[in-house]
Amino acid sequence: MKKKRKRGSERRVADEACYVCGSCGEEIVVPLDPSAGEHQSYVEDCPVCCAPNEIHVDYEADGSARVTARSE
Ligand SMILES: [Zn+2]
Repeated sequence: MKKKRKRGSERRVADEACYVCGSCGEEIVVPLDPSAGEHQSYVEDCPVCCAPNEIHVDYEADGSARVTARSE
């Protein structure tokens, strides 16, 4: 009987990621919505300094998310 090992090979979609605010340099954790598409971008105000950041979310083939931000 084979034991199933779920490690690495399984496609797992991240539901949370973080970006660094382009204005104050704080690391901000944001919830992700995988159902909104593989490539997303939106503007969000930094909860620390209130500066708007343009957030880009890209999902990798393995389901992990890459989040980048630039200050507006
Ligand atoms: Zn900030």
